[in-house]
Amino acid sequence: MARGKQIVDVLATLAVAFGVALVLNWIILGFFGQKSADRAEHSLMGILLLLGYMAASADNRANIGQAVGIFFAALVPCYLGTVFPDLDIRLLGIGGHRNPLFHSSVSFFVLVLLVRRQARFLHILVAGYGVGLASHLWWDIIYYGDVRWLPGGTIDRLWLGVHGLLCLTTPSSCSLRGDGPE
Ligand SMILES: [Zn+2]
Repeated sequence: MARGKQIVDVLATLAVAFGVALVLNWIILGFFGQKSADRAEHSLMGILLLLGYMAASADNRANIGQAVGIFFAALVPCYLGTVFPDLDIRLLGIGGHRNPLFHSSVSFFVLVLLVRRQARFLHILVAGYGVGLASHLWWDIIYYGDVRWLPGGTIDRLWLGVHGLLCLTTPSSCSLRGDGPE
């Protein structure tokens, strides 16, 4: 009986989280005037990963008010992280799409270097960007996208997977837990 209740609680929490993500996605897409289905998908994945990442890395001592504040601070940079890789279409044309410099963790680490020794708030913004970027790279594995310059197939997927992981595992990423670098 207790077990059944636990499952219902978990499902209810997931349903609420998904609903919140859908509403936030709708607001953000409206704010940036975005209408494409592709953009909506990437953006929703970013919000879901941000929710999941923060839930998974939260500890019991975490202050809920602080966590909500960090989530909303990270939300727009997270969206921008989902947008950045596809800017290669605008800059290089569709023939240069999925350029490895754009479809990798490079832009994230440039930002990490720029905010080094800066206020914690900036680390939260960069960590949010990293989550959005990771979600984009991982979603591109599922909807398999060929990365330029690499041989294709498994190596492309590994490239996207590892770079996505790198975006979630630097000290800056810990600032989403409220205990990142000072
Ligand atoms: Zn992409």
